[in-house]
Amino acid sequence: MGLLDRNVQKSGIVISKLDDLINWARLSSMWPMAFGTACCAIEFMGAQSTPYDLDRFGIVPFASPRQADVMIVAGTVTFKMADRVRRLYEQMAEPRYVVSMGSCSNCGGPYWEHGYHVVKGVDRIIPVDVYVPGCPPRPEALIGGLLKLQEKIRQETIVAPKSIEKLLEKKAKVA
Ligand code: SF4
Repeated sequence: MGLLDRNVQKSGIVISKLDDLINWARLSSMWPMAFGTACCAIEFMGAQSTPYDLDRFGIVPFASPRQADVMIVAGTVTFKMADRVRRLYEQMAEPRYVVSMGSCSNCGGPYWEHGYHVVKGVDRIIPVDVYVPGCPPRPEALIGGLLKLQEKIRQETIVAPKSIEKLLEKKAKVA
């Protein structure tokens, strides 16, 4: 049931909480940053193809961190790339969200034991909101992760001090 279905009466007046309205706008127009670090990125691209059609959820990849509000870490993150990934994250405006896509990004994947060059989980350098398992996860799995993120956004509040606490918590995690 959508926001409008719930609230529109015959009079045409909509009564809602500001939180619901802002969250609805945010979760209906997520813009992931268009980038990938390894093979999982192919599945990310696949999710934008006609059969999966991410656009129908209002999810439109954008090739700039300044305008993007979701980072999908699709692929292996090497130590060489870690600084770049973190810098891109820091260039995104708040509120920003991170989806870790695939085993490599979640925990190092096939490189977890002997991959001396691989970060064993991107959550060691930036805070992650949703993890999508698999090697590689299919587009359906990524879409499932993005729907989960939408559900998380639906629960958010702009009322202080909760939102400030959440922000500080996120910052403390990666400090
Ligand atoms: S999880 Fe598998 S498919 Fe994804 S980047 Fe790692 S090795 Fe490639």
